[in-house]
Amino acid sequence: MYPSGREDILTMQRLQPYLLGYERYMIRPGDSYYGIARRFGTTVGAISVANPNADPRRLQVGQYLTVPLGFPVVPTDEPFTSELLSLCIEGLTARYPFLTRRRLGTTAYGRPLYLLQMGQGRRRVIYNASHHANEWITTPILMKFIEEYASAVARGGRIYDTDGASLFRRNLLLAVPMVNPDGVDLVTGAIEEGSLEYERARQIAAYFPGLPFPEGWKANLLGVDLNLNYPAGWEQARENKYAQGYDRPAPRDFVGLAPLDQQESAAMARLTRESDPALTLSYHSQGEVIYWKYLNIEPPGAEEIGRAFADSSGYLLEDTPFASGFGGYKDWFIREYKRPGYTVEVGRGSNPLPLSQFDSIYQKNLGILTLGLKL
Ligand SMILES: [Zn+2]
Repeated sequence: MYPSGREDILTMQRLQPYLLGYERYMIRPGDSYYGIARRFGTTVGAISVANPNADPRRLQVGQYLTVPLGFPVVPTDEPFTSELLSLCIEGLTARYPFLTRRRLGTTAYGRPLYLLQMGQGRRRVIYNASHHANEWITTPILMKFIEEYASAVARGGRIYDTDGASLFRRNLLLAVPMVNPDGVDLVTGAIEEGSLEYERARQIAAYFPGLPFPEGWKANLLGVDLNLNYPAGWEQARENKYAQGYDRPAPRDFVGLAPLDQQESAAMARLTRESDPALTLSYHSQGEVIYWKYLNIEPPGAEEIGRAFADSSGYLLEDTPFASGFGGYKDWFIREYKRPGYTVEVGRGSNPLPLSQFDSIYQKNLGILTLGLKL
């Protein structure tokens, strides 16, 4: 994926504005926002938002502007990889400087774990996606929401049925759009056959010939199922999964050697502890179901909120089945904080879900994603 020769570098330079969704433009004599907007097929408003420190009445020749191009940053018609996510994050934070990024850490193989933050409010919420590798469709769902929310805030418009600016004032949204970038890259083909990473994964999968490879891969590249790695009935999860034969690193269902022994789950736990969120949403696929409990713990207000999520999406609100009811992020959050935390299982079919489901999944979840900030 990285350029090697001079030709490749030139191609990358030409392509980059289209990948990032903006150009860096140097002001020339006689330029105005209006003229620049016309030339790049964008709007004066978009240029103003992207350059909060520039004064359109006092443009300096030689000064650089960020010029957003006239199309959305987040693609919804191609498989997501960790590299595509980095490009989208760079593109969105350039367009919307009030959206900021932070690195929560890295994976065992060195891929960054990104956090996106937006809002001025004291009420903090954590949205996360792609704990499971072959559920990567949840990453563009969350990223598309962030783009539309940021756009609503920037233009003073609405997201779903709500004024974006009022959500922005009330909340600080903390979004981790790809908890498991190593695993996602394996499933979406960014890790090529023959590479060291690929061959290590294949060795792990060789013990489980019944699982399709790499499409059946849910774990991180060390073979730990991140959503079974949290300290909430972890020993019970281990007992359940060992009994099913997942007693070693595996494409799915191996709980790890200890709770939070993986960098990805440890980073999520750290973020949660330092931000003390009022609510969390964890995106998974598939089944069109919302889970809201851990054991018999029913956090105050959680059922009502869950009902509202179910009403707006058409999904079912259900208790978690015993066999998968332990060791998840949602389980840990509810156990630890006794506050509303949800797992949303989007779409129908077998994972990885095809992108042909993207639009319908997004439409069904826009209400949930907005409501989570509205409560
Ligand atoms: Zn999942």
